[in-house]
Amino acid sequence: MSAPAATTTDRPQLSLPDTIVPGQIRWVYAVPIVGIHVLALCAIFPWFFSWTGLILMVFGIHFYGQAINLCYHRLLTHRAAKVPKWLEHFFVVVALCCMEDTPGKWVAMHRYHHKHSDHEDDPHTPLVTFLWAHMGWLMIQNRSTHNLTAYKKYAPDILRDRFYMNLEKSYGWIWIYVGHAFLYFLVGFLIGWLGTGWYAGLQFGSSLLVWGVFVRTVAVWHITWSVNSLTHLFGYANYKTDDFSRNNWFVALLTVGEGWHNNHHHDPTSASNQHRWWEIDITYYQIKLLEFLGLATNVIPAKPVRQAKRREAKEREA
Ligand SMILES: [Zn+2]
Ligand SMILES: [Zn+2]
Repeated sequence: MSAPAATTTDRPQLSLPDTIVPGQIRWVYAVPIVGIHVLALCAIFPWFFSWTGLILMVFGIHFYGQAINLCYHRLLTHRAAKVPKWLEHFFVVVALCCMEDTPGKWVAMHRYHHKHSDHEDDPHTPLVTFLWAHMGWLMIQNRSTHNLTAYKKYAPDILRDRFYMNLEKSYGWIWIYVGHAFLYFLVGFLIGWLGTGWYAGLQFGSSLLVWGVFVRTVAVWHITWSVNSLTHLFGYANYKTDDFSRNNWFVALLTVGEGWHNNHHHDPTSASNQHRWWEIDITYYQIKLLEFLGLATNVIPAKPVRQAKRREAKEREA
């Protein structure tokens, strides 16, 4: 491992990219982001609480969150492994229940980030401000990144898939989010209603909706956004990379492995972010479990293993 990357003291301050259109708010992002935060705030009222809702929230953070970490990030953006199309599409439907955009846009933005990390064209560097990297960039129009040309340039492989391309054609996919939220309410309502009547049903259904969907959605958002903000600000570096990516144990814990972000920027294609024995990467173990079950192939090993394999192949040819 090489010397640590630049320290926080020589971190430059960047201004907003020139391609930002000041004052031009992306309402289709801003309204759901603010709206779901407000709906999640219902959780402060005891009427909306149930233990089942709380358990569904905790379980959901992992279940839905992994559709982002494992599928959107490692499988689709970096092609760190391959899974059957039906499973990949299933993961994407689960990811859409996180309201974190379509795979085409998500992948394009993340590849854009890797190409320009912490430089002027990075769509979400915290060198502008923490809040910009965390969530601001999603809500303000950026001429260079938020357009079809960028999506086609950075995610052509994703857009070749008809299912993913269809998701780009409208905001109809939002109905997947709405539908799953309604299902949470309906199941809760029916259980409560069959138990002690319609009022109990209304209360139980609402608790599953508020905790199991809205609070969970907000939690998964902030966990994902922390990778863009916190892990480019705080933590240690194993490698000198051309950015300020850091390994952050707190974010690694929340994201079950994505927080080893300096390791990831050093070797983005690798299925594993675990470069030291204690940098536990549960997402990688899940990919290995899928491989063990015969559901994942082409699991990309770490850079030293890939280099050794290439050397061996060259020696065999010679
Ligand atoms: Zn990064
Ligand atoms: Zn990445």
